[in-house]
Amino acid sequence: MKFLLLSFFIASSLHAESFRVLVREDHSTRTRYKEVELIDLESSTSFEGKYFRIVKGKGKETISFRDRDPELVLKAATAYYHLTLAREFWEKKIGSSRPAALPRLTVRIDISNLFDDQGHYANDNRDPQFNNALSIPAGQTPDWIPEGREDKWGPEIWFRPKKVIDTRFFSNTLGPNPLTQVLTAIEHPLINYARNQLQVSVVERFFYPQYASGSLQNDVFRFAGTVALTRFLISGSKRLDPLFMEKWFYLDTAMIPEVVYHEYAHIILSDYLMISHSTPVLEGIADYFAAAQGNKKKVYAKVPGRSTSQPKDPYNKKPYVHWSEANRTASSDFVLAVLWDVRDVLGEEITNRLVYQTRKYLTTETASISDHLLRAILRSCDDVCVEPRLDKLHLYEKFSARGF
Ligand SMILES: [Zn+2]
Repeated sequence: MKFLLLSFFIASSLHAESFRVLVREDHSTRTRYKEVELIDLESSTSFEGKYFRIVKGKGKETISFRDRDPELVLKAATAYYHLTLAREFWEKKIGSSRPAALPRLTVRIDISNLFDDQGHYANDNRDPQFNNALSIPAGQTPDWIPEGREDKWGPEIWFRPKKVIDTRFFSNTLGPNPLTQVLTAIEHPLINYARNQLQVSVVERFFYPQYASGSLQNDVFRFAGTVALTRFLISGSKRLDPLFMEKWFYLDTAMIPEVVYHEYAHIILSDYLMISHSTPVLEGIADYFAAAQGNKKKVYAKVPGRSTSQPKDPYNKKPYVHWSEANRTASSDFVLAVLWDVRDVLGEEITNRLVYQTRKYLTTETASISDHLLRAILRSCDDVCVEPRLDKLHLYEKFSARGF
């Protein structure tokens, strides 16, 4: 009886509070601000919830609803709102028991410190971080750390501050712009074609001078002209980078719904996959759930004033090229697209369960796409597919169409 009374008291002490947050429109990636109810709050004055507590930087206290910085309150409310949606998604849509098993998560807004697995945070002035988010594993400082600096923490999500960066500084690391790419791709076929035409013309003139029209000189000029024009266009197109790039890069991670979903997915998956590691496969799986929950054509689409980051495309048709596996960055959308292929074959519901299941057959260290990921998908199909034998055949077909 006592227990019943107590749990009634706890349940009734949770309450809801109305806040303005950033959301995406229902059927597009456009964003707007919306008045929503934040639920499961334990405090009536700060972001202290039953499942999430939102703090600023390295702070211990949760952010006040009446903080002097309205921007910080907006970020805290937006992160809290989307984390609540993510929790619901995993419980109701995926049927995971993990959200209920997790300790209350501490969520840090505007934290620029590096993570240090021995000491929680690296020194303030050591390489401050911006424009990204990460999830960190639980830990505690070793015994020899002097009292007062001892620390113990559970799994946490960190959202870095936004910082505007001039994209010219990293434009040469991004490779050629799309126009240069197209022109470079047609350069050789085009010049080869012109050279063949010239050869045909020379041969004709030698053997059948009576049929040759125009002068050889004209044909030579035409060939030289084609080569010169192609090269000119290519060199010109290289100067057009600014047309294909945003001038500034910034990413206000706490305000991007899918970034919040992505980080929460890492926490959920951490019963098998360590969160301190980032590989294309692990990032791709977290992207999959961000995309599945966001339910839009593109993931991480731009948000005016908040993000100029390139969106990821689940429908990307890029083929698998073996040599590039080693250089593929964790920020590519290739793995996401492979998992979306699976969804194309098996449908949304089974694929959600299947991708969740793959974590059991992957390890953090040995996660290559062509070997480990595909194998994990097929093994997971044995566990969750309706007709595993037939479904796996369809998956094989899909994978070979992707170039595996
Ligand atoms: Zn990630």
